[in-house]
Amino acid sequence: MQIKKSSKMNNVRYDIRGPVAALATEMEKQGTKVIRLNTGNPAAFGFRPPNITDILESRLQLTAAYSDSKGLIETREAIAVYERSKDIPNIHTDNVYTGNGVSELIIMSMQALLNNDDEVLIPSPDYPLWTAAVRLAGGKAVHYLCDESSSWYLDIEDIRRKITPRTKAIVVINPNNPTGAVYPKEILESICNLARQHKLLIFSDEIYDRLLMDNAKHIAIASLAPDLPVITMNGLSKSHQLCGFRAGWMVISGDLSGTEDYLDALTVLASMRLCANVNAQAVIPAALQNPYFAKDELLPSGRIYDQREQAYEGLKSIPGISVVKSQAGLYMFPKMDVMMLGIEDDEQMVLDFLREKHVLLTHGGSYNWNMPDHFRVVYLPEKEVLVDVIERLRDFLGGYVQVKKGG
Ligand code: PLP
Repeated sequence: MQIKKSSKMNNVRYDIRGPVAALATEMEKQGTKVIRLNTGNPAAFGFRPPNITDILESRLQLTAAYSDSKGLIETREAIAVYERSKDIPNIHTDNVYTGNGVSELIIMSMQALLNNDDEVLIPSPDYPLWTAAVRLAGGKAVHYLCDESSSWYLDIEDIRRKITPRTKAIVVINPNNPTGAVYPKEILESICNLARQHKLLIFSDEIYDRLLMDNAKHIAIASLAPDLPVITMNGLSKSHQLCGFRAGWMVISGDLSGTEDYLDALTVLASMRLCANVNAQAVIPAALQNPYFAKDELLPSGRIYDQREQAYEGLKSIPGISVVKSQAGLYMFPKMDVMMLGIEDDEQMVLDFLREKHVLLTHGGSYNWNMPDHFRVVYLPEKEVLVDVIERLRDFLGGYVQVKKGG
């Protein structure tokens, strides 16, 4: 019997857990020890989440039941308080939705919004779930440039050129994955102006907003646009190192006149999945009493800060590699001098590196970057592991001769 995938899945990819990661799993099954640097999963690297056992024990009766589809009311209130603390205007708890991670909410928000061939502006490089969710919903992901030569900031002129009558929304990932950029106010204001002019819905993925370094300041774009509807996404995966809980939320703020139809559709989708994991919802209010849970790790001599320094210094010391230092989050997106290194295919490069040196990286193409000249590094492992990884990479690239697939 042949069972074919639906045509809806054409071009839907999530390569962070794609074919290269599948090879790593295969190698592990054969007994090879692989250093996995493909996901931003702090607890897998020994980072300790807050102690939530007491909360879960005391709320067992509550968390064993389904909740309201949007979420527990005390949870949505706590989320509203946190997002208001970021100067986001006009937040009503009715417009706060909890999700099984931000991931589920990204998919729901695109399903509810897009007709076939509607366009959504998405950064390149992006966090690829956004592109995948747009395509799954029948839409067209139109990628705008983040400019490496300008600290990876958004290229506003490129965005402007790519707006068409079919453009419905713009996605901003701030702080950014995979580049670690944090956007200044002027850039966010320019996005708001484009959204005003062209009636675009703004989606802002702010899941790294509490993982800032070097005194970087995060500005919620919704705080600059009280006259526009803005959807802000966030959660506990990174800030509280609770990826496995799947505790995410989205908040629709600003001027909501005219959005009723869309909000109704979101509510139907939220109801169809009954509710988000209630254990995860139940820990959100306590977690948000200390929103900056990881702050010491982000200061000089804190673990994340030091590992970022180690990764940055090590990467830029490798001949043929340059890198913009990240200001937030868990990643950097180094550039390879592909002429010098003789690289034509970035996926082939990370596959060969995995086979030869047993380290799993992700290639730039996974992030909808259309040149074969980048890869992403996760700086969650301890410094000694990072030193080892950098040396393996230096050694590998020093002797690498790329043999093309099938060649
Ligand atoms: N958004 C960005 C930018 C991410 O990097 C990630 C995970 O890495 C997510 C969303 C997904 O987060 P969650 O664990 O809440 O689904």
